[in-house]
Amino acid sequence: MTIPAKPNTYLSKSQFIRGLQCHKSLYLHKYHPELRDVISEQQQKLFQTGIDVGKVAQDLFPGGVRISFNSVPLTDQSRITEDEIQKGAVTLYEAAFIFNDVFAKLDILHRGYDGWELYEVKATTGVEDVHLDDIALQYYVLSGSGLPVSRVFLVHLNNEYVRNGYLEVERLFTINDFTDTTKTKASAVAAEINRQRQMLKGSVPAIDIGEYCTNPYTCDFKGHCWQHIPKQSVFSIKGRGLRKFDLYRQGIIQKAPIKIGREQRMQESHMKSIASYHSSESCLDYPKGSGEALTGESTGAVLSSEITSFEGRPRWMRGNAILAVPLRRGADGFSGVIDLQHV
Ligand code: SF4
Repeated sequence: MTIPAKPNTYLSKSQFIRGLQCHKSLYLHKYHPELRDVISEQQQKLFQTGIDVGKVAQDLFPGGVRISFNSVPLTDQSRITEDEIQKGAVTLYEAAFIFNDVFAKLDILHRGYDGWELYEVKATTGVEDVHLDDIALQYYVLSGSGLPVSRVFLVHLNNEYVRNGYLEVERLFTINDFTDTTKTKASAVAAEINRQRQMLKGSVPAIDIGEYCTNPYTCDFKGHCWQHIPKQSVFSIKGRGLRKFDLYRQGIIQKAPIKIGREQRMQESHMKSIASYHSSESCLDYPKGSGEALTGESTGAVLSSEITSFEGRPRWMRGNAILAVPLRRGADGFSGVIDLQHV
């Protein structure tokens, strides 16, 4: 992919958040949207839930002015917002601002006693780091536009609220004040905007897949970037504790040929998962003590595995040697240490 003839360094709030997660994702979004995955029905539902929750939260400040965005150019949305503020609006929903070529739309903007209050609504039951980045970007745009911002809030669902009769919107939501945190983050936002713009003037960033592909959001370019990962891979091994990206960075991609290090801790769930892969059956159906042989290839040597029981002493076989793996019962199941020195 070549350097764009006309760099597109305009940013919206969602593009900034995308870029924070991964510069390559922002780059592809700008210049190669055709590589994006098709939005699943589930993602569409999540998206709609966010919109619905945002609408319900508007009842926290009833009677506000809505700034329409359907088919309205961004600069017009910003101008209409400014007009409404000049006319004395107390609360605005979906207010739009542009500063330094960065566009942000705010869920709720309310005129407080000592300045404007910003409320960002999330359809979650808690606060996540990405939410703080979100409001920091909004604060950057809003304060840069010259609007005096007195406080910044995150609004999320209160999972302890039980509806009994009519909906008590004040109890449905939890409101947290993040004014100080937001102000502290403002300079980091400015620096990151510069980094993203610089990146957008170059060629596609050489970024390999990583933990950030699904954190904080599942990237919609996964289908493109993960093409080299087979359906059955180290990433489809279930269970906690196995550092899958560590294995990947060592060049281990296939699920079957995991090259077990000299001393690699294996959770019971990993053993089950590998056994399941080899046998193409659910390992949960494994008869105890059956001793069925399972075969696979490692990058360095042929590795055969035999598991007689997950609850006793499963045995792993390499070539003709049989390795007994002592299991230790822990709080979250059994775990074992495979020491190939003794194979
Ligand atoms: S799939 Fe991963 S590497 Fe590719 S653009 Fe998305 S976050 Fe970046």
